[in-house]
Amino acid sequence: MIIVLFGKPGAGKGTQAPLLAAELNVPTLATGDVLRAAVRAGTALGLKAKACMDRGELVPDGIILGIVGEELSAPQYRRGAVLDGVVRTVAQAEGLQHMLAISGRKVDAVLAFDVENEEIVRRLSGRTVCERCQTPYTGRAVGSVCERCGGALVRRKDDEPDAVRTRLRVYDEQTAPVIDWYLQHGEPVAMIDAVGAVEDITRRALRALGR
Ligand SMILES: [Zn+2]
Repeated sequence: MIIVLFGKPGAGKGTQAPLLAAELNVPTLATGDVLRAAVRAGTALGLKAKACMDRGELVPDGIILGIVGEELSAPQYRRGAVLDGVVRTVAQAEGLQHMLAISGRKVDAVLAFDVENEEIVRRLSGRTVCERCQTPYTGRAVGSVCERCGGALVRRKDDEPDAVRTRLRVYDEQTAPVIDWYLQHGEPVAMIDAVGAVEDITRRALRALGR
C-alpha cells in the first residue's frame, strides 16, 4: 500500500505520517531523510545530490526520485510505505508514477490534509526553536528558555507570518495542481479535515483509507 501524504507546510503531515504508518504496519519514507542517508552513505546518486547541494543548487527531481526509488526497493517497503514530502510538484507526481510502474506498483491513495491558510499562519507563528540545540517547541514565546539545554527560543525566519504567507502562495501555485493531476489520472484523493485533535485527524485519515 503506497500512500502519498499531501498538504500545506504546517498541515501536520509530519505528525500524522508515523501514526498512520504504525496503523497500516508499513514504514514511513520522508524525502529529506532518504536524501541525507544517501549522501551519508555516499551512493552514486547520493554523491550527485551532494554535488548539487555543495553548489547551493536544488537537487533535481530525477536524482531525488532515483534515491526514493532505491529506498523503496528495500525489503522493508515490500508491503508499502507512507510517503511524506515526496510529491510536491506535478513533475514529481509524474516521476513517482513512472518509477513505481517499473516495479509494477502504483500510488494507492493520496491523503490531502486540509487546513485554511490563516490557521497555518497561526500554527507556524506559534512555533519556536532553540537557537542552540534546535529543539522545536509549540506555544512557547520567543525568548523562553530551552528545557533541554537552557538556550533561548527563537522563531525561524521561515515561520514569520509574512514568510508563511509567501510559502503558502508557492504551495498554491506549485503544489495545489498536483491534486488536480492525481484526480485526472484517476487516483483516489481523499481530502482530510486536518483541524482538531491529532488522534481525530488520524482516525479521519484511516477512515478515508477504508480502515
Ligand atoms: Zn536547546
